[in-house]
Amino acid sequence: MKYTVSVRALCEFTAKQGSLDLRFTPAPSAEEGMLGHRVVQARRPSPYQAEVNLSGEYKHLLVRGRADGFDPARNQIEEIKTFRGELGMMPDNHRRLHWAQLRIYGWLLCRKLGLARVCLALVYFDIVSKKEVVLSETQEASALKEYFDTQCEYFLNWAEQELLHRTLRDAALIRLSFPHGSFRQGQRQLAEAVYKAAKHGHCLIAQAPTGIGKTIGTLFPFLKAWPGQALDKIFFLTAKTSGRKLALDALMLIKRTQPELPLRVIELVAREKACEHPDKACHGASCPLANGFYDRLPQARNAALELAVANVLDKDALRAVAREHHVCPYYLSQDLIQWSDVAIGDYNHYFDLGAILHGLTVANQWAIGVLVDEAHNLIGRARSMYTAELAQTRFQAARRSAPAQLIKVLDRLNRCWNVICKDQVEDYAVRNAVPEKFLVALQQAVTAITDYSAENPESINGELQRFYFDSLHFTRMSELFDEHSLFDVTLDMKDESTDPVKNGTLRNHTAVLCLRNVIPAPLIAHRFGAAKSVVLFSATLSPRRFYSDMLGLPENTGWIDVPSPFKPEQLLVQVVSNISTLYRHREASISPIVDLISRQYLQRPGNYLAFFSSFEYVRRVTLQFRSSQPDIPIWVQTHGMNEIEQHEFLARFTATSQGIGFAVLGGSFAEGIDLPGKRLNGAFIATLGLPQVNEVNEQVKLRMDSMFNAGYDYTYFFPGIRKVVQAAGRVIRTPLDEGVIYLIDDRFAQPRVRRLLPDWWKIQRFPYPEKQKRQD
Ligand code: SF4
Repeated sequence: MKYTVSVRALCEFTAKQGSLDLRFTPAPSAEEGMLGHRVVQARRPSPYQAEVNLSGEYKHLLVRGRADGFDPARNQIEEIKTFRGELGMMPDNHRRLHWAQLRIYGWLLCRKLGLARVCLALVYFDIVSKKEVVLSETQEASALKEYFDTQCEYFLNWAEQELLHRTLRDAALIRLSFPHGSFRQGQRQLAEAVYKAAKHGHCLIAQAPTGIGKTIGTLFPFLKAWPGQALDKIFFLTAKTSGRKLALDALMLIKRTQPELPLRVIELVAREKACEHPDKACHGASCPLANGFYDRLPQARNAALELAVANVLDKDALRAVAREHHVCPYYLSQDLIQWSDVAIGDYNHYFDLGAILHGLTVANQWAIGVLVDEAHNLIGRARSMYTAELAQTRFQAARRSAPAQLIKVLDRLNRCWNVICKDQVEDYAVRNAVPEKFLVALQQAVTAITDYSAENPESINGELQRFYFDSLHFTRMSELFDEHSLFDVTLDMKDESTDPVKNGTLRNHTAVLCLRNVIPAPLIAHRFGAAKSVVLFSATLSPRRFYSDMLGLPENTGWIDVPSPFKPEQLLVQVVSNISTLYRHREASISPIVDLISRQYLQRPGNYLAFFSSFEYVRRVTLQFRSSQPDIPIWVQTHGMNEIEQHEFLARFTATSQGIGFAVLGGSFAEGIDLPGKRLNGAFIATLGLPQVNEVNEQVKLRMDSMFNAGYDYTYFFPGIRKVVQAAGRVIRTPLDEGVIYLIDDRFAQPRVRRLLPDWWKIQRFPYPEKQKRQD
């Protein structure tokens, strides 16, 4: 059996030494890199060959990869590297790595074409100036073969160990049995559909109710299908930390019940959460864990993989290994992605423009399976990943802290910004495109800051650094700008006296420029395309058309709607249709809502959650509730609660406690929390959850109308009802739970709303005695 390794992975393993050094960043994104490659390749005259597939063997190692280009006329093979900034500042170990890759490709090409020698050209392409710097050397085939053999020999022990790992893993996966013995109701149906999707390499959307065990019900069949599909990795992507924890627990359970399964599972967290020295920069001169990182990495990697046999490499486990070997835990986890079987991370680890999991998948040509947990969140999260915003006030704060060398270029940008303000009468307006002059000035500012930071690596920080990264994202998104996004300008009133950049035509406004993604589908679709199979699952993925249009799912996507395992008798759903929660009726709604909640509580004391559309609504209802029912315990969600406060809020719901938690719909307590049994007896939902009507949402609605002829539904209605169903889903978590839900608003009685509510609910009209007196 051969062990297959990419040229890139081989060289990263054998040729990386010394310290971590990220001063040369920001590196181009994967998209910028690919674009840069295409630009260089397009410049080459015929008969230039781009993307040349090459492979070669050494003992039981199969090395494969794609050289960027070969020019037969000049007998020259090229390796293209895109960069931004000052090439001279590139660390030596990066340069060594690039030469190592090129020499390996050189030998593979000589071998393929029977060449006696070849010219190796390392082409550095500046993505900003579009200029190339070419370093070249001619090498004999025999010397290249020797180099190839040496690198492979160095890697061979590792490859043997990896080969053994894969053999044991696949054999154990074939024998894998479901860790719970039997499936819950609905769980088998879900697992079978996921297995088929993984087996046939399809995309699947699975709507499955809470409480059936979706995490293990999707992970297990994916693992089971793995050996037949020759997958390289599975990525389990979540919107929240709680989702990551569930996946880690499920995989730990699988490993515990199947001790011979040496599955390597790694948790990925954001750099800020893993960093041991937040006050330092990621290079050897600043951070002790970056200094000599690659020299200590092999021992740390070995220790981590040894630990991974029986455990999962979660954040804490990785931290302990990193501490022991004195390496950075964040960059250790990045290295371990290559050697792991399952990576559990946030959506942005795969879907973001510069996402590491996607970048590695493309670079290594991995066959991957992707599981997207609570997939209804992907629309909102993807929109924010593909949205870029630049605020002029923040820019001006950055300008205040900028070094003298940058002032001229920043002032030029400020003038272009002022022109945008001057041209606009309304406070908010959508424009067709970002003005070209502004983009040119922004690009010049980015280039100037990049050059300056290349020469003064530690001088760019604070506001200027934030503006720099925001600008990079803005320029990337402007290149991708299309009908999936809006370009809008919001004017802010500004105190003239604080303007540091007066230039004759002083404005009393500043502008916030936003490239606002509305339809993430075209951008997400590329990510789906890079995976062998994808399964998206959630309890709320209706209606299909909406999710399909928003997420850009492949044509052959399968859909499954798993029936609920719960019985209608478990849940009393009552529509309180004589109360309106519309803003104009809010005042009048408070007393009847307080009355309704206290009546239910007094009839059946227990734990309840009451959801409202805003913190202000919560405040007004709780004010009256406290004065009319001082003996009923209540606890209230407040704006910006930290993790400890959230934990304390949820800790009030115990099997023996009684009281009412007041919260906002769509907030931290309206989804992703699990309060089974007596920890939650019921919920009151006093809103349809519709997003606020404002200028931005009205523009989104127009775009949805023009694209899908469904402006109101796609902007307000579907997202709103989804939040209601998610919040209501907190009440029944197991087949033994019983509870009550009050849907408080007359619109809940409308058939179009009822159609979006779960089929298994038996909905009744609440027999409220007195008609609420309408104010209008
Ligand atoms: S510990 Fe922090 S500063 Fe040091 S290399 Fe890691 S992420 Fe960078």
